[in-house]
Formats: sequence, C-alpha cells, structure tokens
Amino acid sequence: LAKRLGRGGFQFYSRQLTADAQHRLMLESELRRAIERCELEVYYQPKVLVENGMIVGSEALLRWHHGKMGMVPPVQFIPIAEDTGLIADLGRWVFREACRTAAELNADSPASHKVAINVSSRQFQRSDLLEMVTESLNETGCRPEWIEIEITESLLLDQQYETLATLCALRTKGISIAIDDFGTGYSALNYLARFPIDTLKIDRSFISSDDKRSAELVKAILSIARCLGQGVVAEGVETAEQAAFLRANGCDAAQGFFYSKPLPKAEFVKLPQFLSA
Ligand code: C2E
Ligand code: MG
Ligand code: MG
Ligand code: MG
Repeated sequence: LAKRLGRGGFQFYSRQLTADAQHRLMLESELRRAIERCELEVYYQPKVLVENGMIVGSEALLRWHHGKMGMVPPVQFIPIAEDTGLIADLGRWVFREACRTAAELNADSPASHKVAINVSSRQFQRSDLLEMVTESLNETGCRPEWIEIEITESLLLDQQYETLATLCALRTKGISIAIDDFGTGYSALNYLARFPIDTLKIDRSFISSDDKRSAELVKAILSIARCLGQGVVAEGVETAEQAAFLRANGCDAAQGFFYSKPLPKAEFVKLPQFLSA
C-alpha cells in the first residue's frame, strides 16, 4: 500500500510540476506581447504624511490586464520577467511612464511630488541602467528630484562594489534611493552605513502584526532611521489604529489601503491634496 501511495504521490507531484511549468511558459509568451498589445498599466498609490494625510508622493506599481486571464498580479509575472530578461523592457516602460507622470504632477505645483519606482535586482545590475534612467528623464522632462528608486536588501548583498558605484551615480544625479520591504531581507545592518540610502520603507508585515514585538521593532527601525538621518515610510497601513501608532511614534510618511489603494493614473490625479488621516 505504501508503495502504491508513494508512486501515486509522485505521479501527482510530477503532473503538478508539469502543469506549473506549462503555466509559466504560457505566461512568459503572453508577457512578451504585453507591451505591444497595450496590456500594461501603471497604477499609483499615494504616500502621505502621517501627521495630516497630505499626499507628498506616490509609488508606481505595474499592472497587467490580460485579454483572457484578466488581471495578473505582479508577484506572478515579475519573477518570470526577471528570469527571462523581459524585465529590461518592462522596467524601461514602467520607468518612462512613471517619469512622465512625475513631470505632469510637478508641472504646476510648488510642492514637489516624488514618484517611487520599483527596480528589481536583475534590472538594477544591468549595465545599461544609468543610460535607461537618463533617457527616461530626458524624454519626459522629469527632474531627478521627482524620482525615487526602490531597491531591496538582497541587492546590497551581492556585487557590492558595482552596486555601490551605481547607487552613487544615481545619487549624484539627484535621484533618491529607498530600501523596500525593510526588515524582511537578510539584513546586515552594516550596509546602512556603507550604502547611500535616503529612505527605509518598513515592511507591511511589521505594521499589520498585532504582536507587541513587531511594534517594538517598528520603533527600533524609526530610531535607526532618525539616527542615520534617513526618511521612513510605513507600508501597508490599513487601519486608523496603525496610523495613530505611527503618528505617536514619529513616523514621517505612510502608504496603505487606509489612505488609498493603488489607482489608475486618471483616478490618482483626482485625489484631494489631503487624505483622511
Ligand atoms: P512592493 O514594492 O512592496 O509594493 C507594495 C505592495 O503592497 C503592492 O502590491 C501594493 O498594492 C500592496 N499594498 C499597498 N498597500 C497595502 C495595504 O494596505 N495592504 C496590503 N495588503 N497590501 C498593500 P502589488 O502592486 O501587487 O506589487 C507587489 C510587488 O511587485 C511590489 O511590492 C514590487 O516588489 C513588485 N512590483 C510591482 N510593480 C513593479 C515594477 O514596476 N517593477 C518591479 N521590478 N517590481 C514591481
Ligand atoms: Mg515598492
Ligand atoms: Mg514593499
Ligand atoms: Mg515587495
């Protein structure tokens, strides 16, 4: 019996693997055509001051509306884009869109609005990154101060010399750098001293947890950022209680469904200057 179950289990397992592999191949070939088919769209989630809900920036988040499959979430297609190299084209497309939006949002406004753009490790390590960034800025009339690049902790672990050089070049241009999902990577805190980083984005898991220890960790991260002169953004704020906790503990800025979901550009630009805080 054990033998039969074992073999059945194996068959099920390998069939499952094949189905997953086929799904992946299918997504890959569909993704190759997504740009030309105009299936991609950039959504924007406001970043607000915790103090009063004023919108001070946004994060560009890629969306894929497939003709038949509907909305495919980034967690499904970004890894495929990375593995296949498609991330170069997708990333360039997102970057240009986000720069165009940043230029529009800042056109007739005295206060500057920063658009944060996610750049995955593969994308960051490409030799043409700086060229891509410069081209996007030039073509859209976007100023570097209107852009923030979000990287993850894992990037800072490998190819440290090249990474440092690229970060410094971006910084010299006037682009700011944020660490996304801070606290969830294989953080070696010493990188905070070595790399030029403007902003820490506290991962949603710390914000949403009811655990007392998570609250203490949020306070510790706020204190690290304060000591190093870095800004902080709390990610994934969903409730008034979470917002109140952040306000009481001196967190500058936040994002989350409590303030607003990511929105298509046309809806984002209609948001009031202050969201309920
Ligand atoms: P991320 O950069 O950490 O983005 C935050 C994610 O949390 C977004 O998911 C956002 O919709 C979601 N979120 C925001 N507020 C809340 C909240 O209050 N509660 C909950 N539960 N979720 C919230 P999304 O858009 O599905 O993106 C997932 C990830 O995909 C992003 O995580 C980012 O790593 C990646 N990604 C998205 N767009 C791009 C892109 O253009 N380029 C690259 N390289 N990666 C991207
Ligand atoms: Mg992000
Ligand atoms: Mg994040
Ligand atoms: Mg993330």
